[in-house]
Amino acid sequence: METILIPVDKTLDNKKKYKQAVDILTSGGVVAFPTETVYGLGALATDEQAVQKIFEAKGRPSDNPLIVHIGNKEDVSNYATGITEDAEKLMTAYWPGPLTLVFDKIPGVIASNVTPGVETVGIRMPDHPVALELLRALAGPLAAPSANRSGKPSPTEAAHVYEDLKGLIPFILDGGQTGIGVESTVLDMTTSPPTILRPGGTTQEMIEAIIGPVRAGSKSPGEQAPRSPGMKYMHYAPEAPLFVISPDTTTIREAVETLHREGKRVAIIGPDDLDVLAADWYFAVGPRNNNDAMASHLYRALRQCDLTEADIILAVETDLTGVGAAVMNRLIKAADGKRYID
Ligand code: AMP
Ligand code: MG
Repeated sequence: METILIPVDKTLDNKKKYKQAVDILTSGGVVAFPTETVYGLGALATDEQAVQKIFEAKGRPSDNPLIVHIGNKEDVSNYATGITEDAEKLMTAYWPGPLTLVFDKIPGVIASNVTPGVETVGIRMPDHPVALELLRALAGPLAAPSANRSGKPSPTEAAHVYEDLKGLIPFILDGGQTGIGVESTVLDMTTSPPTILRPGGTTQEMIEAIIGPVRAGSKSPGEQAPRSPGMKYMHYAPEAPLFVISPDTTTIREAVETLHREGKRVAIIGPDDLDVLAADWYFAVGPRNNNDAMASHLYRALRQCDLTEADIILAVETDLTGVGAAVMNRLIKAADGKRYID
């Protein structure tokens, strides 16, 4: 299959391009498109065979539910019930935005393979002009996971999508680099209080400012909330083994020395100003303690490691404030729980 990559930006007349994308979607195909978090791979969420193509293109385990993307807030009631007052408040405050809300689903509307094995459906309204334009032109819901091969870091540029899915999907809308860089927060509204199933672009602090205390799922990958089946899979992983390491410069320097003595080449993912000249490759992810910058640059850095000959990757940890919770959640998964201890 030929994969067409088409740029869309404000200076171009894009009508034809959206029409092309909509034609593919309504005839049961898949299309990759940018959102404010990462690129998504969309299929019409009411079309079971189209949705099946997402799982095939990604190599995604079929028991891992997909998020349904909508173009208008009101559409949520077409697919979900039990929309509480708290949910309404969150939608008013943060939609469009990187917040997926999990509700009880209305049976028989969304294709069953979108939400395998669960009676719930995760819904969000993305905050990206291209995603919104596509959804409005389609006038239907898009089931869309991240547009990467399953297990790989999520794509934050159209080129990443092309790398992973070339020959497997027909069409990519290229809207440039995504902003937030990590996926949406998944918040289960069917529990009381609501439960964060996956930390993401909308922080716990932001949610609690609107509806008060919520339950935060375990941050360690071994004990993820069973209500979020997808959380059990290793994810975001570059090819070389990755270890999370403390931000202490001496620890990092000694780690590099030790690894070099063992004949290993080392790539480091860390803040701009880290003073470790001995690393074989260094991928900077923004100023120290700037978790927003780190979120935005992390997946690209993970992919850059795959272009090196590194035998081991050390990723410098950050604190859990704001989007730091999401960043560390992804890093711990990419590391499969491994920490470098000297
Ligand atoms: P991705 O589409 O790759 O960003 O992953 C979506 C993730 O959202 C899944 O792996 C689940 O962890 C979570 N999710 C989506 N829908 C539901 C749902 N109905 N119930 C629980 N978790 C969900
Ligand atoms: Mg994903």
